[in-house]
Amino acid sequence: MKPPAAPDVCAETLAMRAAFEAAYERELSQSSHGPTPQAALHAAAIACRETLARRWAATQAADAQRGDEAPVRRVHYLSMEFLMGRALSNALAALKLTEPLAARLAEQGLALGDVLEHEPDAALGNGGLGRLAACFLDSFAELGLPSFGYGLRYRYGTFAQVIQQGRQLEQPDDWTRDSPAWELPRHDLRYPVGFGGRVEVDAGGVRRWLPAERIEAQAFDFVVPAHHSERVSTLRQWQATAAPIAFTPFCEGDYPRAARHQVLADAINWVLYPDDSSEAGRELRLKQEAFLVSASLQDLLARHLREFGSLHQLGTANAIHLNDTHPALAPAELMRLLLDEHGLGWDEAWTITRQAVAYTNHTLMPEALETWPVRMFERLLPRHLEIIYEINHRFLGELRGRFPGDDGLVARLSLIDEGSQGGERRVRMASLALVASHRVNGVAALHSALMVQTIFADYARIWPERFHNVTNGVTPRRWLQQANPALSALLDSRIGDGWRQNLAALAELRPLAANRELGEQFLAVKRANKERLAAVIQRELGLAVRVDSLFDIQIKRIHEYKRQLLNLLHVIARYQAIGDNPDAAWVPRTVILAGKAASAYQMAKSIVQLAHDVARVINSDPRVGDKLKLVFLPNYGVTLAERIIPAADLSEQISTAGTEASGTGNMKFGLNGAITIGTWDGANIEMAEACGVENMFVFGLRADAVAKIKQLGHDPRRYVEENRQLKRVIEAVSSGAFSDGDAARYRPLVDSLLQHDTYLLMADFADYVATQAQVDRLFADRAAWAERALRNIAGMGPFSSDRTIAEYVDRVWSAKSLN
Ligand SMILES: *Cc1c(COP(=O)(O)O)cnc(C)c1O
Repeated sequence: MKPPAAPDVCAETLAMRAAFEAAYERELSQSSHGPTPQAALHAAAIACRETLARRWAATQAADAQRGDEAPVRRVHYLSMEFLMGRALSNALAALKLTEPLAARLAEQGLALGDVLEHEPDAALGNGGLGRLAACFLDSFAELGLPSFGYGLRYRYGTFAQVIQQGRQLEQPDDWTRDSPAWELPRHDLRYPVGFGGRVEVDAGGVRRWLPAERIEAQAFDFVVPAHHSERVSTLRQWQATAAPIAFTPFCEGDYPRAARHQVLADAINWVLYPDDSSEAGRELRLKQEAFLVSASLQDLLARHLREFGSLHQLGTANAIHLNDTHPALAPAELMRLLLDEHGLGWDEAWTITRQAVAYTNHTLMPEALETWPVRMFERLLPRHLEIIYEINHRFLGELRGRFPGDDGLVARLSLIDEGSQGGERRVRMASLALVASHRVNGVAALHSALMVQTIFADYARIWPERFHNVTNGVTPRRWLQQANPALSALLDSRIGDGWRQNLAALAELRPLAANRELGEQFLAVKRANKERLAAVIQRELGLAVRVDSLFDIQIKRIHEYKRQLLNLLHVIARYQAIGDNPDAAWVPRTVILAGKAASAYQMAKSIVQLAHDVARVINSDPRVGDKLKLVFLPNYGVTLAERIIPAADLSEQISTAGTEASGTGNMKFGLNGAITIGTWDGANIEMAEACGVENMFVFGLRADAVAKIKQLGHDPRRYVEENRQLKRVIEAVSSGAFSDGDAARYRPLVDSLLQHDTYLLMADFADYVATQAQVDRLFADRAAWAERALRNIAGMGPFSSDRTIAEYVDRVWSAKSLN
C-alpha cells in the first residue's frame, strides 16, 4: 500500500524542496503587487500543490496494484460535509517545508504567521459531522488507506455569522473568491446526472430511465498529505457544470431564459443546506444528495472497471461508506447503475450493494432522521423510487416470512412511511441505509448502545450482527501539533515526538503528571496561549480580559440539547452572587462562547442574543470588574477553534445525557490540557474512563434517569420553586433585566423552560452550579490544577482519529467483515 521507499531520502527531500522553491519563486514573480502576504500565500499553495499532485499520482499508482486479495478494500467515504478549515500550514508541516518557507518569507520581509492568516477557511460543513470527515481524510493518508472522500464543491459553504446589536445575521461566505488554488480540477472526469422524466419499458421488459434534465458533474480534487509518509488521501468534490445557454431565447434578447439551465445547475453548488422551510429548498437539497451520490458511484464504477475489468469483485474490493443518511440514496443509485447501465441481474447487484455499503448514524433524535415525500421522488428520481419499492417489497416479504402476523413490525420497518397520521407518504432514508448495509455503527459507546435500544431497536432485533460501535476521534496533527506548537514542543521534550503518529504514547506522561517543574511549564504554555486568545478578544470585541482568570469555554453549534443556555444560567447566577457580595474571594472567570445557530432555528438564535445581552450587562457592571467576563466570539469555525481550544482551562461538554452522539470538541480540549466539566454523555464517558473520572468534573442526570423523568412526566416548575437561586435567575431573564426592561424578548425561551424543559436544564441546574464551585476551588490550587490537566492529556491516546480509522478498517471495511 505504501509507495516504494525513496532510494535516497535525503536527495529526494532536497529535490522536492528545490522544486517547491522554484515553483514558489515562479508564482510570486507573476504577482502584480509584489510579495504581499496574499501573493506569498497563493504562491506557496501552488508550489505545495505541485508536490502534492506528484504524491497523488504515486499513491494512485500504488493503490491500483493492490488487487482484490488486499485485506483492505478501497474506501469511498460519502459525506455532504467536509469541514476542512485552512490547508497551508498542514501541507507545509506534512511536507516539512515550514522552516524553508519561513526563511524565504523572512528575506522578503514577511512573517509566516501573517501569510497563513490570509487563507480563508474551507467551511464546507456545519459542525462535528463535517469536521469528523476532515479528520478522517488526514488519518486515511497517515494510515495509507486506499481511499476517496466524496463531497460537493459548495461555493459558499456554511454562512458567515455576523452579530448586529446582539443578534445573529447570516451572510454568504464567498470563500473561493480569495482562496489559494488548492484544488486540482479534473477536466477529464465528468459524469452525467439525470433528474425527472419517466421510466420506459421496452419489449423485453427492460426498464430505462429517460431523465428530463441532465447535469454534468465535474471533479475537483483536494489532496491531503500524510505527515509520516509520502501517501496522500483525496477529497473529490463535484461541481455541477452549466449546460450551454439556450440560443433561441438568447437571440431574442431574453437572457434570463437563455441562462436558466445554467442557474439551475449552478444552484446545486451554491450552499450547504438550502433553507428547508420552502418546497424549492427541500427539492434542491434532495437534488444535491442525488448529485453527490450518482457522480461518486459512477466514478467508483469507472475506476473499478479500469482496474479489474469486470464488476464481479466490486463489493469485495470496495467499501462505500455513508456519513449519516445524507448519501443514503447510494444503494438505490448503485442498484440502478448495476441493473440498468451494466446489465447485472437483481440478485448479483444486491449482493454487491450489501457487501459494499456501510452506514454511520450520528443522531438519536427521531425527528432528525431524514425522510423525503414519495411525490418528490416521483418527480425527480422516478427510477430510484421503483428500485426502492422493489428493495422494500423483497425485504418486507422476508420479514413476513420470519415474523408471520406481525403487521406492526412490518409497518415500522417498511422503507415507506405510509403517512398514517394524515401526512403524505415518505421514503425513510435511514431505513434504506440500514437494509442495504452490512455494517451500521454509532459513534461512541453510549450512543451505539442507545441506538440499538431506541431508534433502531427493531432492526437490531432482526440483524444483531450488523450493529457496531466505533468511537470518534480527532487528528493530533491539526488539533495538537499545529494548533498548539508550544504544548507540542513541551511534550516532545518530555516524551519524544512519537505521539504525532501514535497518540497512545501520551500515556508516558502519566508518571510525570505530579512533577512540579512540568506543571509549571504546562501552566506557562497555557498562559501564553491565553494571551494569544486575549489578543483576539481585544481585537474582535474591544474587550480586555484577565489572562490569569479561569478561561471557561463552550464552542460548538448552538443547539438546545447542547445547553449553552444552562451555561448562561450559571453565568447569571454567578453575576448575581458577585453583586450580592462583591468583596468575597471570587476566582476570576472569563466565560467564552462561540457557535452558529441554524438560520431557521429561532430558539437557538434567541440563545445567541441572550448571550450578548447578558455579556453587555455583566461586562459593564463596575461591581463585577474582572471577576467575571462573558465573551461571545463571532463566526465560529475551524480556524477560530484552533485559536480558542489551546487557551482553555475548562471545557464545557454539558449536553443532556443521551443526546450528544459523541462529541469531538470534548476530545480536542482534553488533548490541549483543558479539564472537562461534563455530563455522562457521548464520548465524555469514554474520556472519563481513559483519563480517570476523578480528573473530570462530572455532573447531572445520567441517560437512564433522563429517560425515566421523561417517562414519568417532568415538572420543571418544581425545580424553580425549590431553588431560590434558580428562581432568581429565571426572574431576571423574564423581567427584562438583560433586555432593557423588554420582558417580551425572552418570553418564548423562559416559557419553554418552565413548561417543557425538554433538555432538563432545570433538573441539572443545581448540580451544575455546585460542580462549578468545585472547579473554582481546584483552579485556586495551581499545582493541583496542572496535575489534573496533565492526567487528562495522558489519557487522550485513544481519541486519535487514527485509532478510529483502524477500527473502521477492522470492523467495517476489511474483507473479513463480509463473512
Ligand atoms: C470539532 C468541531 C466541532 C464539533 O464540536 P462538538 O463540541 O463536538 O459539537 C464543530 N465545529 C468545529 C469547527 C469543530 O472544529
